[in-house]
Amino acid sequence: MKSPELLYTPVRFLKGIGPKRAEVLAGHGIATVRDLLYYYPYGYLDLGRVETIGALRSHDYGDRAGALRSTLGTVRTVELLGRPPRQRLVIVLEDGTGFLQLIFFEGINFLKRAFAAGDLLAASGRVTRFRNQIQIVHPMIDRLSSGGEDGSGPEGFLHTGGIIPKYGSTKELRGVQLHVRGLRKIMREVVTQFLPHVPEILPAPVLASRGLAGISAALESIHFPQSYEALDVARRRLKYEELYMMQLLLAMRRNSVKSGPPGIAFRIGSRLARSLVDSLPFTLTAGQVSVINEITRDMREPRPMNRLLQGDVGSGKTVVALTAALIAVDNGCQAVFMAPTEILAEQHHRTISGYCAPLGVSVRLLTGGTKGKEREAIVRWIGSGEPGIYVGTHALIQEGVRFGRMGLAVIDEQHRFGVSQRLALRQGSAAAGEPQTDLLVMTATPIPRTLSMTLYGDLDVSVIRELPPERKKIVTSLRFEKERPAVYSFLRGQLSEGRQVYIVYPLVDESEKIDLKAATASFGRLRKEVFPEISTGLVHGKMPAGERDAVMAAFKEGAIRILVATTVIEVGIDIPNATVMLVEHAERFGLSQLHQLRGRVGRGSSQSYAILMAPDWMRARISQSASLLPDEGEPDDTLIAVRRLQIMRDTNDGFKIAENDLKLRGPGEFFGTKQSGLPRLRIADLLTDQELLDLARADAVSTVERDPHLRLSGHRHLREVVGREMKELVPLTESG
Ligand code: ADP
Ligand code: MG
Repeated sequence: MKSPELLYTPVRFLKGIGPKRAEVLAGHGIATVRDLLYYYPYGYLDLGRVETIGALRSHDYGDRAGALRSTLGTVRTVELLGRPPRQRLVIVLEDGTGFLQLIFFEGINFLKRAFAAGDLLAASGRVTRFRNQIQIVHPMIDRLSSGGEDGSGPEGFLHTGGIIPKYGSTKELRGVQLHVRGLRKIMREVVTQFLPHVPEILPAPVLASRGLAGISAALESIHFPQSYEALDVARRRLKYEELYMMQLLLAMRRNSVKSGPPGIAFRIGSRLARSLVDSLPFTLTAGQVSVINEITRDMREPRPMNRLLQGDVGSGKTVVALTAALIAVDNGCQAVFMAPTEILAEQHHRTISGYCAPLGVSVRLLTGGTKGKEREAIVRWIGSGEPGIYVGTHALIQEGVRFGRMGLAVIDEQHRFGVSQRLALRQGSAAAGEPQTDLLVMTATPIPRTLSMTLYGDLDVSVIRELPPERKKIVTSLRFEKERPAVYSFLRGQLSEGRQVYIVYPLVDESEKIDLKAATASFGRLRKEVFPEISTGLVHGKMPAGERDAVMAAFKEGAIRILVATTVIEVGIDIPNATVMLVEHAERFGLSQLHQLRGRVGRGSSQSYAILMAPDWMRARISQSASLLPDEGEPDDTLIAVRRLQIMRDTNDGFKIAENDLKLRGPGEFFGTKQSGLPRLRIADLLTDQELLDLARADAVSTVERDPHLRLSGHRHLREVVGREMKELVPLTESG
């Protein structure tokens, strides 16, 4: 007897998973049996295809790396060679037929501790010959057993043979012994025990017409494939399921806007908007004008606006949105402007107040930092429906904040928000039966055309294609540690011409404390030793809001000339006199982050510069390689970092950068839930699975047309999953 509810058994009730492991798993988004079953292997080790080290030696590699190869061997030595920054970790592997060196330039300290002589490892990667040795740089490795273990051998591994799944593990998972091997063991249990209870969520006619495998067979084969053919069949089914679910959400979202209450039909001949445009110190670009036209056309319609404005960093999206906001105010409504960070919200508040003061329009700010009486007063104005512009952060969609008369909601840098927040902002106004708010979301992350339909399938899209005319192209250069003195003297030159400088340090969650310390220490050094004669300020996310504002304001006024910052300044900040963006450890930033950071300069008419600092050891790899991506296989992390820097050096075009970003990261990561408000794709690939996507889209649309609220009995399990897993992402109206 099938019991689908068993799939929602919390993992802590499984054999071998106690509260501690359960907690770590939960941190990785795995709370239930179902989550585990949908945690697919990232790859497979085909024991049939493993070669001996002796066989690896016998291939002719020339001086180029060949195809991906796999081998098994026992660790003989783990050694650090060379000195920083050229330091590397060398693990020597032996299997009785020869020796193979595994070389690591990154993660050295962790790996040194993680491996010891006697460990049995499976390694795969591209083999190269160096002098008389064969080696793999940054191989993928799997520990099959530890040297310390009592010779009982790699449990459940060699004995099973065939195609072995490899599950992604992390430092935290390994910390509770959930390394690749541990995960494999648990997965085996779960598959055996629960597979019979997995309900089929795809409607029967869809399965039949698309010739897809049933869910149980597919899940079994994705985890423990009997053959490559079985694996292909399983992948096709599971990819389809993901794409279908994604398209189903989009179809339901579109449907709910269409069938919801109507929007406001604004009068668009706005005196305020007119006065704004007349008062601007510049002429709007043709792109800005045409987008303003598209927006006003939407606003005039009784149907609620649902528009995405895409425009590269610096293209001038803010004034466009402000024009729309003033139309709403002229119609006696409230306009809301939501930004992802306090710094950005404060900046918008300053800029917009500057434009609006002469027009007599009130502009108010509500962020997490707004406290006490001030907050009370603003929340009261918001509730009373008092017309004006309300700028803020997530604080605008908190419990207890309800707009009396919201006419327009603008979301800046929308890729930083989730769709749930988009829905929440819109719903923060309309009581039942009131008109729906017009929505304008803005982003500087351009989306390759083939994908925007999918990603923003529920939005109309406007694009600003050009930058304001007097902008000069930002000059981007890659510099290495050795060249630091020259970099500093370049900064000095710019500073002596009256310009200002950003110096940005990475702040990656995992090692936040260390990074923060590094940024603070460097700040001290810069101020005391390198630029003692120049006023320098520091901002980071952990600092009290008041202090941070003061520093930002001083930088804006020019009282501070060098701003040392963590990535809190990544988005939106607009200070035209700053002409140099120096990014420390640029290799640690993602492409879109680097592009955003670079967009902080080049906002005025002076020539601007982005300088990307990378460690010395990267120099050789960067000058070596010119092509964008290797033809096959997964590029390793180092190579990806190298490519990112090359791309940044070679292009300023945000569109090209996004395309490359997508290639490097893969759509799964590029379209994280946060950016897209769509379920994360674990297995489907929007770039290569276009055909399957089209089928899934057509099927999802027809499902929603026939059964908008998934009430038919054939959609019972589908509805269950949508309701449980995606309720924040889709308006599944209970009342409907
Ligand atoms: P983004 O699209 O990145 O949000 P902003 O709206 O912050 O860009 O605008 C960047 C800078 O360009 C601001 O200083 C803004 O005043 C200025 N700007 C906007 N439109 C124009 C224009 N048409 N001509 C010249 N400068 C402009
Ligand atoms: Mg902006």
